[in-house]
Amino acid sequence: MDQSRQTVTARSIAARGIGSAPQQGTAVLPPLDLATTYLRDPDNGYSSGSVYGRADNASVRHAERQLAMMEQAHAAMLFSSGMAAAMAVFVALPPTHIVAPTIMFWGLRDWLRDIGRYGHTITYVDMSDLDAVAHAIRPGETGLVWIETPSNPLWTITDIEAVASMAHRIGALVCADSTAATPVLTRPLALGADIVMHSATKYLNGHSDVVAGVLAAAKPSPLWSRITTLRGQIGTAASPFDAWLLARGLRTLHLRVREHCRTAQFLAEALQEHPAIASVLYPGLPDHPGHAVARHQMDGGFGGMLSIRLRGGEEAAIAVAAGVELWQRATSFGGIESLIEHRASIEGSGSPCPDDLLRLSAGLEDPDDLHRDLCRALANLG
Ligand SMILES: *Cc1c(COP(=O)(O)O)cnc(C)c1O
Repeated sequence: MDQSRQTVTARSIAARGIGSAPQQGTAVLPPLDLATTYLRDPDNGYSSGSVYGRADNASVRHAERQLAMMEQAHAAMLFSSGMAAAMAVFVALPPTHIVAPTIMFWGLRDWLRDIGRYGHTITYVDMSDLDAVAHAIRPGETGLVWIETPSNPLWTITDIEAVASMAHRIGALVCADSTAATPVLTRPLALGADIVMHSATKYLNGHSDVVAGVLAAAKPSPLWSRITTLRGQIGTAASPFDAWLLARGLRTLHLRVREHCRTAQFLAEALQEHPAIASVLYPGLPDHPGHAVARHQMDGGFGGMLSIRLRGGEEAAIAVAAGVELWQRATSFGGIESLIEHRASIEGSGSPCPDDLLRLSAGLEDPDDLHRDLCRALANLG
């Protein structure tokens, strides 16, 4: 509105506003775009690409461009949660046979129990065992192989390249949940996956203040178009502010992940020797069954996540989680603060997680302090 030719009252100006901010051409940060709707051009077009906030938004697209470039993907799509991102793949997929890992993020595994309502059938397999995978995939029937590596909460490793080549031979797509690896350590698309998925709630955002999810595709496909349409129809894109925070979090991803890996590796090696601990599950340990594959497909570290199994069983595990002071007892992972969790308690019935297991998210505190804190809680077991 041209204020020099003001023909309306202050009330109308207050109600209407004065439109968008001037071009922020010199800012080093993207603006936060909270608009739910955008102006049509006089010729009735939408040359800006923005129409309505349910489908997407400029702040969402900004974070998506950043993520697509980091994954070297055709495109990335940002969702309101990791679960919304993962579910979009299964819901958009025409009815098919799916092969999924026995050990995977429990929230998704739990939802998949009811996958039959979408016309899919599903076979679970130890995805770290390539012979078992070869038996599970069915030529002419299997449409999707879902992988997660390292897999939560046992941190087993799947050979992405080998599984992708098996799946592609029979015409199945591969979607890889790479939440624990992040684009810093692993590029599933370069290894043959068709779609990579992340819970951006974890390392990508990294500050425990955003719930979001990401899909990134190697190339355009009917499935990708269907997912885009569905997201716009249901309205499961991330909110603009969450997208903006995520874009900010991504800027320190490389530094954070490097440090998370270093601390996790140090803790895994140190805790291996502890008499109260039966085993340490971490792909960076040479005796981990997936170590060789992890060395090949993870570049720069083995992730910030590890689990420990207590000789004293469930009771000891819960006591150690209660006895730490620097570590914080909470679910989720990938944030700056170190978290400890008795995983079986949150997963509930039907979970394959052993009840003597504590999941550790190595944060950015001093590694020696983290180690001392755990050792003190372990020593109090008596
Ligand atoms: C947390 C997580 C998810 C789900 O993501 P949300 O953002 O919590 O919805 C999916 N996969 C893995 C491996 C996760 O850790």
